[in-house]
Amino acid sequence: MSTTGSHQAPASAREREVIEAFRAGGVLTRARIAETTGLGRSTVSAVLTRLTDEGAIAVVGHDEQDGRGRPTERLAVDPDAVRAIGIDLAHGAVRVVTLNILGETLAQEERAHEDALGGGPRHRIVHELLDGLDLPERTPALRGIGLGVSGPISLTRPERAPWRALVADLTARHGFPVQVDNTTRFAAFAEHLASAEDGRTTLHVRCYQGVGGAVVREGALDLGATGMAGEVGHLPVEEPGMTCRCGRSGCLETVASTPAVLAALRTHGIVLRSPSELPGALVAHPKALRPVLDRVARSIARALVLTTTLVDPDEVILTGDLFDTDDHLLDAVRPLVAEGVGERFPLVPLARGRLDAFAGAVGAALVVLSPRGRATQG
Ligand SMILES: [Zn+2]
Repeated sequence: MSTTGSHQAPASAREREVIEAFRAGGVLTRARIAETTGLGRSTVSAVLTRLTDEGAIAVVGHDEQDGRGRPTERLAVDPDAVRAIGIDLAHGAVRVVTLNILGETLAQEERAHEDALGGGPRHRIVHELLDGLDLPERTPALRGIGLGVSGPISLTRPERAPWRALVADLTARHGFPVQVDNTTRFAAFAEHLASAEDGRTTLHVRCYQGVGGAVVREGALDLGATGMAGEVGHLPVEEPGMTCRCGRSGCLETVASTPAVLAALRTHGIVLRSPSELPGALVAHPKALRPVLDRVARSIARALVLTTTLVDPDEVILTGDLFDTDDHLLDAVRPLVAEGVGERFPLVPLARGRLDAFAGAVGAALVVLSPRGRATQG
């Protein structure tokens, strides 16, 4: 993950505990927060000072008196205070979200554009969407901006990356640090937090314009040494295989990405203008689509047998143009994974993603908000 601009300390474990107390309890006194979290009064006080200074927590009333005759403050989260912005430079669309400290979506906007739109016009869309959100200028409650971009950023030369200018612009305009990462990784983080109980490990695989993946362990993204951990899309699962855009050959992406699936269908005489026509084509031409989908399922299953053996996740979450509409592909993958894993290894549950197309933007904001925030989509 690349961070630019002035750094701010990420949410501490103590802050997360205090926020969880507010999430569960609503309006709380300092004594109640200390009791719920088990943290000392001075620790609670330090955390609350930061949160109230930022405008994320506010005094909403007073109890009669404490034991020493002073009124006791009743505190609550300001649910309208913007804490983080998430931006997703998705394929063919720009999406932005704002979240409050509880990870709840306050606003979200999307604008579709032609696939070939250049960096400059796309960046203007980002600024226009953010302007439309009517953000307070340099609000003290805002901790930063997360920017999701396509592809593994460790394979990009940062100095040449097209998003570099956008990051500089955002930092200059809003005065906050901008965290940049592959939007797949951000989406995996949001999916994990939307579904997983504490202490779980999830592997997320996304098959859209490209194929990406990420591992989230116990509420934290597994980045690896260079941010490549969990890059399922570039596992060599086909041999001999086609050359991938990453330079290797036989990558899962060369078979399971949406363009690869559409190209394979064309060789079978089925021409689709967009992935949205896939479900209809499945119904109209089930026999013609079968060999293509079987090959996709086999490649995904092969990748999952390898990755689940290595990562040992509690759950695999699959999203993609072929996964989002129905369970057809998932049902084809499941028995192949079971067969490949064998009887002596645990069979990991496979599930479809639970969030919508804003998952990448939400995850980008959540990573800024707190490495262990929680996704709630509005
Ligand atoms: Zn590749």
